[in-house]
Amino acid sequence: MIPFLDLKAVNAPYEREFKKVYEEVIASGWYILGQQVNAFEQEFAAYCGTKHCISVANGLDALILIIEGYKELGIMNGGDEVIVPANTYIASILAISRAGLVPVLVEPDIDTFLIDVNAIENKITSKTKAILPVHLYGQLCNMDAINTVAKKYGLKVIEDSAQSHGSIQNGKRSGSLGDASGFSFYPGKNLGALGDGGAITTNDDELANTLKALRNYGSHQKYYNLYKGVNSRLDEMQAAFLRVKLRDLDSANEKRRNVAARYLKELKNDFIVLPKVDNGESHVWHLFVVRTPNREKLQSYLKECGVQTVIHYPIAPHKQEAYKELDDHAFPLTEQIHASVLSLPISNTIESDDVTKIISALNNFR
Ligand SMILES: *Cc1c(COP(=O)(O)O)cnc(C)c1O
Repeated sequence: MIPFLDLKAVNAPYEREFKKVYEEVIASGWYILGQQVNAFEQEFAAYCGTKHCISVANGLDALILIIEGYKELGIMNGGDEVIVPANTYIASILAISRAGLVPVLVEPDIDTFLIDVNAIENKITSKTKAILPVHLYGQLCNMDAINTVAKKYGLKVIEDSAQSHGSIQNGKRSGSLGDASGFSFYPGKNLGALGDGGAITTNDDELANTLKALRNYGSHQKYYNLYKGVNSRLDEMQAAFLRVKLRDLDSANEKRRNVAARYLKELKNDFIVLPKVDNGESHVWHLFVVRTPNREKLQSYLKECGVQTVIHYPIAPHKQEAYKELDDHAFPLTEQIHASVLSLPISNTIESDDVTKIISALNNFR
């Protein structure tokens, strides 16, 4: 069976370096907010091209804390609205709710899966405070257009970069294209830790300063608490592992791009709709997602051919029990996406022979 994602293979090339830094961290005697975390934050900010990186415990917390930070700065208030794509992974929407704001869902473009920029303006009200574009599957949203709308209405732009580490638009990387950005280092992400992890990038000094306290009980100085903060920190061990993998991120993304280029060129089947790429340079292919009218049939056929696939995501957020208050809203494109998408295996370690097998299986599907 060709696995959808072989995380053991993804991490195997770094094993020797992992063991070396693991021993260093153990020997340091310091395990939370120490020199590994400091170094990672500096290196990741430099990589993204931002002034600041504040590491946190996971990607969901990164997005929640950005909004909490804006609340502490008096820029947002409970009950304010944030515009977010309806077809995102539910974490983007949960972050808005957890921070006490109201998610306002917008339909995507069905071919790119990214937020439909033309549909944003209609949803802006006097309560709207931010747009939260999600660079879904690794492709960047049209950030020029989004920043233009945001500027016109005085809104903040919060990027969800959990699937787009390293992608570039107009020479700028994901994480530096809005006012603040949330990243996840969940093991399966393009830059994945060996556990949970997350980070916020921003050029905003005040926000960065607030976030450094918020993630650590609201405290800049031990036992002095400025805010009602939380405990959401990246640990020294994960920071050390991430530093090793960050050095290789561009080359790992390039390998994903090569796999995607083969799928785009060699897949030829009328039952399979390929994803539309708006800006090839920008795409880091966290996932390679196709659409097909008879997904269950295609998925079981591929399984018989020895190819494991996954659905990202089977149920739209507004159709989840957790968001039953949104169930009466109609998002036909989003629902069409959730009913038809299938993710093919893609990673920086998938063998070329396996890609060939997947392509020929797909091309023979009737
Ligand atoms: C993974 C993911 C998150 C959440 O990250 P965690 O580290 O799992 O909390 C948020 N948004 C998107 C789009 C994601 O894919």
